[in-house]
Amino acid sequence: MKKISILGSTGSIGTQTLEVVRQNPDKLSVHALSAGTNVKLMEKQVREFKPSLAVMGSEEAASDLRTRISDLSGIRVLSGMDGMIEMASDPGSDMLVTAIVGMIGIRPTVAAIESGKDIALANKETLVCAGHIIMPLAEKKKIRILPVDSEHSAIFQSLQGSPSGRIKRIILTCSGGPFRGLKTDELKNKTPEDALKHPNWNMGNKITIDSATLVNKGLEVMEASHLFGVGTDDICVTIHPQSVLHSAVEFVDGAVIGQMGTPDMKLPINYALFYPDRLPLEAEKLDLFKTGTLTFEKPDMDTFRGLSLAIRAAKTGGSMPTVFNAANEEAVAAFLDHKIGFTDIYSEIENAMNRHNVISDPSVDEILAVEKEARANACKG
Ligand code: NDP
Repeated sequence: MKKISILGSTGSIGTQTLEVVRQNPDKLSVHALSAGTNVKLMEKQVREFKPSLAVMGSEEAASDLRTRISDLSGIRVLSGMDGMIEMASDPGSDMLVTAIVGMIGIRPTVAAIESGKDIALANKETLVCAGHIIMPLAEKKKIRILPVDSEHSAIFQSLQGSPSGRIKRIILTCSGGPFRGLKTDELKNKTPEDALKHPNWNMGNKITIDSATLVNKGLEVMEASHLFGVGTDDICVTIHPQSVLHSAVEFVDGAVIGQMGTPDMKLPINYALFYPDRLPLEAEKLDLFKTGTLTFEKPDMDTFRGLSLAIRAAKTGGSMPTVFNAANEEAVAAFLDHKIGFTDIYSEIENAMNRHNVISDPSVDEILAVEKEARANACKG
């Protein structure tokens, strides 16, 4: 029985992870769950999965949860960053699933690695901002970082059985989002409601907006670079609107190996939870006769500047990816609040990057200080 803890259990990845647990009651058990504010769903999850520990984002939410589950015994309820770090390092679990959104995931991930747990990594901000700390630490502690992001899982699956050091380039696929093919003038008046209509994937709000701007693909380039030790010039982003090929690896001999499937996050979650095994999953299966034609295009990086700005941040390195990410998080929140327009997200990120004095090789404290500063300066015009 593998014991897992889930950071962000009430979100899109968190609930789908619990669905995989539900399908495998004899192989997986839940040791701890954490959420931000959704006490109602956390109560339901606690009653169903009976973890030993539950953590809420604030003491107020934790206190509400304690009252709601006062009829249950043996469940500790904690709150805030201290609670998440305690949960991450608790020896009662074998693996931490990082399904929380944002840079708030960095410290608990470091704590879990320090305490020798494998990581099923969905939270991409962790590697984007602190990959230079996380990857060497994982190697030192001899733990596995198992990617949950569908593209990175596809790359990871494509690499199985091949010797290391034989990657020529990574082909990172991208649906193109709801605005594929539009030009800047047509993007200007797009609303959050338009941007939240992703053609293929059903995800949390923040990542859905990031998919529309191609910031998400930029974050994934940075994530892939850390995970697989490949430079950004050797990661080829390819627009593939059908989202059937989830990504591929071109090897030194010219062979291209990729992973295909339906757009369902439960597959990469299932793979990460059971790696190196591959267990059955109840989900819709790929029917290539229904799929029909698969197409591939170059991304329009002049219009969808989220990708070009991300590559600039990745090449600059140091603290720049943190600024890129923090400025984007603030801009997306402002956009969702109808305070700025869609294309303003790009100018907000660019202005923040232009203002920033890069710190090379930043510590976790420095990353979080840079984040705070970037957020404080965000969206001030
Ligand atoms: P959601 O917004 O759906 O869920 C986020 C989770 O984090 C929720 O459980 C939320 O709790 C919790 N959370 C948010 N803020 C806080 C906080 N301040 N303190 C404690 N908990 C908090 O996000 P997704 O599931 O979409 O994404 C999670 C991560 O996975 C992101 O990094 C994303 O980029 C990545 N990812 C997501 C994919 C997807 O298909 N969704 C695909 C690939 C990667 P609550 O709701 O209770 O407030």
